[in-house]
Order: sequence, then structure tokens, then C-alpha cells
Amino acid sequence: MAKSGPKSGKRIVMKFGGTSMAGTERIRRVANLVRAQAAAGNQVAVVVSAMAGETDRLINFCREANALYDPAEFDVVVSSGEQVTSGLLALTLQSLGTKARSWLGWQLPVRTIEAHSKARIETIDAPGLIEALEDGEIAVIPGFQGVSEEGRITTMGRGGSDTSAVGIAAAINADRCDIYTDVDGVYTTDPRIVAKARKLKAVTYEEMLELASVGAKVLQTRSVGLAMKAGVRIQVLSSFGDDDAASADELPGTLIVSDMEMDQLVENGDMERQLVTGIAHDKNEAKIILTRVPDKPGAVAHIFEPLADASINVDMIIQNVGRDKGETDVTFTVPQADLARAQAMLEDRLEDIGFNRIITDSHIAKISVVGVGMKSHAGVASTMFRALSDRGINIQAISTSEIKVSVLIDEDETELAVRVLHTAYGLDAVEEAV
Ligand code: ASP
Ligand code: MG
Repeated sequence: MAKSGPKSGKRIVMKFGGTSMAGTERIRRVANLVRAQAAAGNQVAVVVSAMAGETDRLINFCREANALYDPAEFDVVVSSGEQVTSGLLALTLQSLGTKARSWLGWQLPVRTIEAHSKARIETIDAPGLIEALEDGEIAVIPGFQGVSEEGRITTMGRGGSDTSAVGIAAAINADRCDIYTDVDGVYTTDPRIVAKARKLKAVTYEEMLELASVGAKVLQTRSVGLAMKAGVRIQVLSSFGDDDAASADELPGTLIVSDMEMDQLVENGDMERQLVTGIAHDKNEAKIILTRVPDKPGAVAHIFEPLADASINVDMIIQNVGRDKGETDVTFTVPQADLARAQAMLEDRLEDIGFNRIITDSHIAKISVVGVGMKSHAGVASTMFRALSDRGINIQAISTSEIKVSVLIDEDETELAVRVLHTAYGLDAVEEAV
């Protein structure tokens, strides 16, 4: 549908993280980037984070004030960091001669469920916002905050400004949601491990969800889920470019798009189709083995029901072939932070479940190769197993999905495994001939 608006008028959301907003100097840089987008004839809504470190500082104040803090008052305090930066950016834009105003969460409003400190967006009312944008005014919106049905301020969990930005983009039917951050895109793997990691031109929503653990967490995972549901095109790009850095319209960052748009990019020759898009690693899981569990219906349900009731997320599960005497070993992984709780819970139910021993190991890492390309190709898993075994890396567990193969290995071998796989799938950047 054609959008009304000035000139070549695209409607764009620009989101800036805490490092980009840390101090008046940086806010001025941001204001210049925003002004340039508006000057190019785009309608611009900006979503901002609190200054880097500010949310942590506010959380500490709450703890000091009352260790058993009321979550509703907690949200009143921690949401304030974004209120400050949104006002400061609007002021700075005005000082540059641009029309701008802030729209706080309760003013739009951004309606969320009541769950304080982990609220989810329900609806965003945008008619007033759209009217202002069409009128050529830049809208500055504090991320992270919303309002509950009871009319109280809510916040959306750490990193929630990304989700705010995607929510706003969906509500105003934006052409693109540009997420400006301190990295210049999404890489084939963690560049701190593999110097030859390459920046990806585009990834699909599904791939991004799987790659979330690569390097710095670039986006709040929930924002990617929301973008996928609402069909919001995201671009991750750096806000720290030189003055002559490419404009966001030239798509210098990484696009996060639907499968369909990805196919189009490949068809148009903008992208090469890769079998594997990236290699992710995750050191935050722990392994639990229950030995000699009865090999009969209901045994596995007995293990996993209590964990589910306690909201402990189980990831990989392997049930070994039965041994003699109708017994089997069950291996699975849980987040490291939940290991002690899971172990205590299982030990409490030793009689119900009927296992012999519980063995735990948090010295493990999960390595995943991810790519939509593998939907239509065989051999991705076997390449992985061969490459790892050639380097003497032992695989302790395996799981697969349509676009991912994951293995569990010894944590000490993480870096080696990532490097070996990055090379095995031809992902290493080739040095350009001079
Ligand atoms: N300021 C909040 C946080 O640090 C939200 C955000 O920046 O995305 O988690
Ligand atoms: Mg963030």
C-alpha cells in the first residue's frame, strides 16, 4: 500500500542502544543521524534506551531501598532512564532546528500485560503518532516501557527497547526498523573467536533466533519473534561510523527478513545462497544424566513434568537404548543457572522416577551450525561430525531442527570447534586480491 508522506517518504524506526545514548555528546551524534534520515524525506520515529549503565544503577537503588521491592514501583524507577534520554534527544533535535517531541509509553499508549519487569506488548495505539509523523514531526519514544490495563507503568525485561522498536515499527507499518548498536551487524560467528568471521548481508528471522547466542547478544530475542510475527524488516547497524559512513538506506548493516525476502535477495544476486549461515556457541547450559531409569511408559514424563512446572527450560534430550533389565539412561541439558534447582528437584523425586544416579556437568558447551540452506540439502550434519572428529573433539549429545544441528562438547574445546566448523563450511572471509 502506498504511504502518504513527504517526497520519497519511507517510514522508518531508528532505535539507539545505551552506548549510543551515553551522554550529551553522543546524543548529539544520534540527533544528526536522525536529522539526516528526516532530511532525506523519511518519516522518522526514534526509540531510545537509557544511557549505558543507567538501568543497572536504578535497579541497585531499588535493591537498597527495599530488598523485597514491589514490582510496580520497581518499574516506576527503572523506566525513568529512558524517559530522560527521550526528552534529551527531543531537546537536541529541537536545538538543531528540527520538529520533534517525545511520546512516553503511557501517552501513545503502549499497552502491555501487567507482568511487571517482564511485560509483553499487547497493542500500540498509533493514530496520534502517525498523524505527527505525517506532519513532519520526529517522534522520540522511550523504549522498554509501557502501561498496564490498570494504568501503571510496566517494563519489558532487560534489552526490552529492541522489542519496543519492533512493536512501534509494526504499529506504524514502517518500511524498516533500523537498530543502531555498537556492532556493525550480525556475523557468521563470534569475531572474537574467529578473526575471519564475515558480516552477513541478511539473515532470516529463524536464523537470527538460532544465532542469538553468537558473540554479544545483538538483539533481545523476543524482538526477533515479534518481528517475525508482524513481518517487520530489521536492519542491525553501527551508530559509530565515520562522518562519511554509508547511509542506512544503502543497507550497510545486516537485514533480518522473512524467508521470502531472503529468496528474493538470492534471486536478485544480492546474496549468495549458503548451506550454513553461521556458527553459534553457548556456554550457559549444563548437562544432567540420570542412570538406570525404568524403560517404560511414563518414566520420562516423571522426569520432565516437575521441571516444566518449575519453568526450567530443557533443551537437548537423549534417551539411550535400553540396557538389560528394562533400564535406560536419560541425558538432557538445562540452563546452568537452573542446575542446582533441577538437581534438587530430581533428587526429591528419586523414588517416583526410579533412577540410580544423577550425574551433572556444567563444563560443557553447545555448538550449533545454523542455516535455512540446510532445509533442502543433506550432508550438513555429517560434515560437522567429520570436522569435529578430525580434531579429536568428542560429541556428547546431538540435536537437530530443520535449520540447525547442535552438538554438546567439552567447554574447553569451544573455540577450537567454532574455528574448525567455520572453515569446514567455507565461511572464512577470503582476503581480497590487491
Ligand atoms: N535500558 C534497558 C536495559 O538496559 C532496556 C534496553 O536498553 O533495551 O535493559
Ligand atoms: Mg540492547
